[in-house]
Amino acid sequence: MRTVYVNGDYLPEDQAKVSIFDRGFLMADGVYEVTSVLGGKLIDFDGHAVRLARSLKELEMANPVTKDELLAIHRELVTVNGIEDGMIYLQITRGSPGDRDFVFPDPEQTPSTIVLFTQNKPGMADSPVATTGLKIISIEDIRWGRRDIKTVQLLYPSMGKMMAKKAGVDDAWLVEDGFVTEGTSNNAYIVKNGKIITRALSSDILHGITRAAVLRFAAEAQMEVEERNFSIDEAKDADEAFVTSASAFVMPVVEIDGVALGDGTPGKVAPRLREIYLDESRKAAV
Ligand code: PLP
Repeated sequence: MRTVYVNGDYLPEDQAKVSIFDRGFLMADGVYEVTSVLGGKLIDFDGHAVRLARSLKELEMANPVTKDELLAIHRELVTVNGIEDGMIYLQITRGSPGDRDFVFPDPEQTPSTIVLFTQNKPGMADSPVATTGLKIISIEDIRWGRRDIKTVQLLYPSMGKMMAKKAGVDDAWLVEDGFVTEGTSNNAYIVKNGKIITRALSSDILHGITRAAVLRFAAEAQMEVEERNFSIDEAKDADEAFVTSASAFVMPVVEIDGVALGDGTPGKVAPRLREIYLDESRKAAV
């Protein structure tokens, strides 16, 4: 039985409750973050806290906790649940005004709801998939226009994962006007002639915390990086591809729409970046 955090209380998971009028439940009016834990320490905590504050600001939603309080809650949950490797899920919604209404409630009257829980994933950094790579399909990106805000509107990404599952592969890349935006729950990259290519930041994609770290490490390792649009055809013709996210770190992609990339194995760049990312992030973990 996990101990979870709800609006100031640490409770057994079966005693934690949120109102049926909560706007997260009724309107997907909420934001979230997922922070990894390796060796009992938080990976990229600062980046997640900064992005959370930005998501809240963009939606004019009150932030119920300071960064220091947030860190203390994360650490307490890691300790009480004995998490060595895993994730912490955090969600903040616009709260429960006690009825259903499209108009935002006054934040003075309706406090935000905040929930955090842990997910235990022993050995998550040693996933065997990292050595074989992911197979993906491409699907149309029909999500809303503010993908830079990390909202809990995850129905279409969830449908995308199901389309991938039905097609017998691992994940899907989203394509808009012929260009790859990102993965269902990760940022997307291709590698051609040693150069790493990934879409530039805009409201079209989530500004991945892992993306920022990986691009910084790539530059420090003198790898060439180009931030620009790439088409799904260009991706199929790439030497390598990979995705990044807080929970998958750097994960190679070896097949797109049935087309094997290179020799159909993870290649050199993605495994190297994964190694650097894991080493450096463990060193900087808090
Ligand atoms: N893009 C999307 C759509 C995501 O859902 C995620 C993570 O959930 C990412 C990118 C990767 O972001 P991060 O590296 O901050 O986990």
